Amino acid sequence: MRRARIAYMGDVHLAIENEGRLILEDGREVTENEVFWLPPVTPKTIFALGLNYADHAAELEFKAPSEPLVFLKGPNTLIGHQGLTKRPANATYMHYECELVAVIGKKARNVKMKDAYEYIDGYTVANDYAIRDYLENYYRPNLRVKNRDTCTPIGPWVVDKADIEDPMNLRIRTFVNEKLTQEGSTKDMIFTIPYLIEYLSSFITLNRGDIILTGTPKGAVDTKVGDEVITEIEGIGRLVNTIIEE
Ligand code: MG
Repeated sequence: MRRARIAYMGDVHLAIENEGRLILEDGREVTENEVFWLPPVTPKTIFALGLNYADHAAELEFKAPSEPLVFLKGPNTLIGHQGLTKRPANATYMHYECELVAVIGKKARNVKMKDAYEYIDGYTVANDYAIRDYLENYYRPNLRVKNRDTCTPIGPWVVDKADIEDPMNLRIRTFVNEKLTQEGSTKDMIFTIPYLIEYLSSFITLNRGDIILTGTPKGAVDTKVGDEVITEIEGIGRLVNTIIEE
């Protein structure tokens, strides 16, 4: 099942997708173009992986990490499918990052890898935009790079865990203005989703609705005002976003 949060006729609704249409909780059916898409999740904590694909680390001229490189994002950076993302006027390099997102289904603490999937509710797609200009150093890490209003599109929906046979073998693609610019597979992650759940839950509680953005493969390209950026993961979804002037 694919579960969305949308606004329609002045109200917020949960909806499920059925053959290209959305069915609201009260039974009404609407088309995907009639609704305003909201982030499909409302997490307390957003975890995001840096350099979790060796080919992406290499293209940015970083060494692949030997322990997960995790940072946090504020929930107010999220926007939904078909949203508008602001490019700062002075930025010279803003790239997209198509990422598989694991949505936590229940409270997790000290979970072992072999049990990790029990704690997952489902999956969605995020575009973890980065403004490379603002990357500084060890003492001032990536706050302005990665925590910006509108700079984390997510959705369109959460796909139930049961519908995805192997989340660690899904094709990842990004299109800018319909041109394919990024292609990879979740099988190339350095730290897998079960590994990340064991690692994180060994020192912090994961709560229902929390999300883990699992990193992006090679294929970073600068994006400009007016670009339509589509981040797509096989079996999960196709997330559309447009870049506007700040
Ligand atoms: Mg990222």
